[in-house]
Amino acid sequence: MAKTINTVLGPIEAKDLGKTLMHEHLVYGFCGFQGDATLGGFDELLCIKENMKWLTPLRDEYGFKTIVDATNNECGRDPFFLAKMATIMDLNIICSTGYYYEPASAYMYWKFRSGFADVVAEIAEMMKTEMTVGIGKTGIKAGVIKLASSNGVITPFEQKFFEAAARVNQDIGATIITHTELGTMGPDQAKLLIENGANPTDISIGHMCGNTDIDYHERVLQYGVFDCFDRFGLEGELFHTPTDEERCDVIAALINKGYEDQILMSHDSVTVELGRFHDKDSDPNMKHANILNIPSRVIPMLKERGVSDAQLEKIFVTNPAKVLG
Ligand SMILES: [Zn+2]
Repeated sequence: MAKTINTVLGPIEAKDLGKTLMHEHLVYGFCGFQGDATLGGFDELLCIKENMKWLTPLRDEYGFKTIVDATNNECGRDPFFLAKMATIMDLNIICSTGYYYEPASAYMYWKFRSGFADVVAEIAEMMKTEMTVGIGKTGIKAGVIKLASSNGVITPFEQKFFEAAARVNQDIGATIITHTELGTMGPDQAKLLIENGANPTDISIGHMCGNTDIDYHERVLQYGVFDCFDRFGLEGELFHTPTDEERCDVIAALINKGYEDQILMSHDSVTVELGRFHDKDSDPNMKHANILNIPSRVIPMLKERGVSDAQLEKIFVTNPAKVLG
């Protein structure tokens, strides 16, 4: 029997995922936003309205059916809110379990516990419980493990999460998605996970589009993992990233080399930022930073570079079904 995939509304089969975005955030807060709750509290109605504004055309005009929400446990992950949005929008939403990269994470808790407990075992237990029993008391199960590493290094703290995730992958076949920082450590992440026993086809190495070096991509692809271009719309100096045009050039080059079965795409969009209001609409760095950027603007760029409808079907339907299923 094929493995089922946990959405926030229950399990589905891979064949029912349809067009999928592999890394988005319906709500997200940089770790520490909780401390500014007096002036930056959560406005649920505003969050629902904003998400409806973007997700309605994503579903109705562009035919997407599934979104992986990559929000880490300590960055405002809210399974109940995601379940409400999945219900309102009739979309599949898949929620994550895991922590962010060390400088941006709530690492103190685990650092403290490492003084007296086997932290790798505890993290693995947390991930597995959230995927098989549920998150907190919600009964809502995470569908993917989210991992992250720093700029140019996988810190010892981050490494514990990679080891724990590999264990949970061996145990229950959990899908693993990752954050790489500034186009670094992609091959190292793949190697670390596989050396610890994770199955390559369950792994998506994320934010790979932060690097335009074809050799860097091939060093990841050679492990048999998925190469995820998931920051379309985050461009320029603020994010230290290539442009969407440059990202499309890399995808076209990799497809020409025969890697179309290992490419995934998404935006890393944040529809509502937790904490105080941030006027993203008037920020010149963020004019394409939304969940409609790929279907409305990037897919035509890929077609200009010779990417076919059949290849796009692989990127948005076949490959997500393989890595999640
Ligand atoms: Zn993200």
